[in-house]
Amino acid sequence: MSTTRRGNEIKTTSGPGRFRSLGGWVERPDDLQPEVEGNVSADVIVVGAGFAGLSTALELTALGARVIVLEQAFAGFGASGRNAGYLAGGQGLEYDMFLKRVGHAGAKKIVGFYDAGVAYVERRLAELGIDCDYNASGIIRAAVHPSQEKKLRESLCIGLELGSPGQFLDQAEMRARGIPPAFLFGCYMPGGGTLDPGKYVMGLRRAALQAGVKIYENTALLSYVEGPVIQCKTARGSASAPHLVFATNAYTPQLGLLRDKVTPLRVSAIETEPLSAAQLASLGWPNREGLVTVHWTMESHRLTTRNTLVLTTKRLGYAYGSKTPNVPDNAAYQDLAVALNDRFPTLRGLAIQSCWSGYISLAYDALPVVGETGEQGNVLYTAGCSGHGVGTQSLMGHLLAERIGGIEHPLLAALRHKTPSTLPEPLQWCAVNLALGLVNRMDEHVNRKVRSVSNQ
Ligand SMILES: Cc1cc2nc3c(=O)[nH]c(=O)nc-3n(C[C@H](O)[C@H](O)[C@H](O)COP(=O)(O)OP(=O)(O)OC[C@H]3O[C@@H](n4cnc5c(N)ncnc54)[C@H](O)[C@@H]3O)c2cc1C
Repeated sequence: MSTTRRGNEIKTTSGPGRFRSLGGWVERPDDLQPEVEGNVSADVIVVGAGFAGLSTALELTALGARVIVLEQAFAGFGASGRNAGYLAGGQGLEYDMFLKRVGHAGAKKIVGFYDAGVAYVERRLAELGIDCDYNASGIIRAAVHPSQEKKLRESLCIGLELGSPGQFLDQAEMRARGIPPAFLFGCYMPGGGTLDPGKYVMGLRRAALQAGVKIYENTALLSYVEGPVIQCKTARGSASAPHLVFATNAYTPQLGLLRDKVTPLRVSAIETEPLSAAQLASLGWPNREGLVTVHWTMESHRLTTRNTLVLTTKRLGYAYGSKTPNVPDNAAYQDLAVALNDRFPTLRGLAIQSCWSGYISLAYDALPVVGETGEQGNVLYTAGCSGHGVGTQSLMGHLLAERIGGIEHPLLAALRHKTPSTLPEPLQWCAVNLALGLVNRMDEHVNRKVRSVSNQ
């Protein structure tokens, strides 16, 4: 594709690249674990081998439990192998969506949970010896147009009041840090940074296998029967245990659970070809802080250790009936390619090597959805951490393992609240797509203003 500008209309230089039905960070493992054959049993069955499921399994094993993980594909097949790799804390959350609902004191504890997620992952990387190219650079939430300043400052202010650290960076401070000039000013969030989520999830998988967790890959949970001992049906066998944990995130509604609590949203990503030394030098950006924008649907821009740029988010999608089809979203990839050209004009012509999509789950109040269900209270679940699951869904593993061991961690207690119900279809499809369309239009309005300035 070539770049042309007609008024505000932009066509990008680089095509959307090769679609990957897996995330950009993972491959099917060479030592794929065999599927369940016949009947197997354990103390706990965990369904889903992403950050949440593998962390839960590891923590339970450390408490002495025998754990089975059932994974429909392989560890990291879901969002954990598809995300942007930002390990982010409690600054810049969707405060307005939950502050009124849980009050200031409740919100403070919840923000504390997000920050604790960062510290938890940092500790686990060291304890488990996982090398995932973690760059503890902090993250910058940046404005691309002066009109975004009010929203940025208000959000920073609320985040500070709720106890999460952050610092306003003016234009001079952004330039002194060498942040690419399209990102005008921002909020520096000192905790966390970026990592390679594929290496992280595969590191958890390796650690779990070494710890004796029995992971069954290529093994979808088809159905289950509750009781003091829960019976799980798979294609070629069954598994039973006194406890069952759903760590299936956006896929959970399809399993009959949290149907009216979480909404799966498709998030897309593109990755460029490696930048040349000259292209890298043209960016500056020496500390490689992960950048997110202040748009209603943020853009995220980060460099990888392979010197590629990964861009995500920008345009979200919802499929009727809370489905999660693993198909390309060409409109989203195209939008991300436009953002690449808008934010990094020195890179015009840089090809996009791959693109992919994955699913997060979002509750209407944007808060985590965690708890237990069933007559015996022995079916546990965690979902709803939206675009912040690297830290939070990892930490959930610790909280759920303790809960099964009989301890209610104060952070788990802080997360308990009544999640609002979603709408039935077709209302849900209409409402979500209407809302997404509206925020897209508002964001595009800002982008047009940015382009009109840069065209002058
Ligand atoms: C493009 C993108 C960018 C993102 N960027 C960030 C970011 O930068 N920072 C951040 O913090 N978060 C980010 N997120 C969100 C983050 O990736 C998720 O919140 C997190 O990975 C969720 O982890 P999880 O273990 O709960 O779920 P998942 O990783 O989705 O794992 C669920 C697992 O369950 C399995 N499963 C589903 N159904 C069944 C079944 N019936 N039987 C057996 N197994 C089943 C799936 O195959 C999958 O492996 C992003 C997400 C996406 C998609």
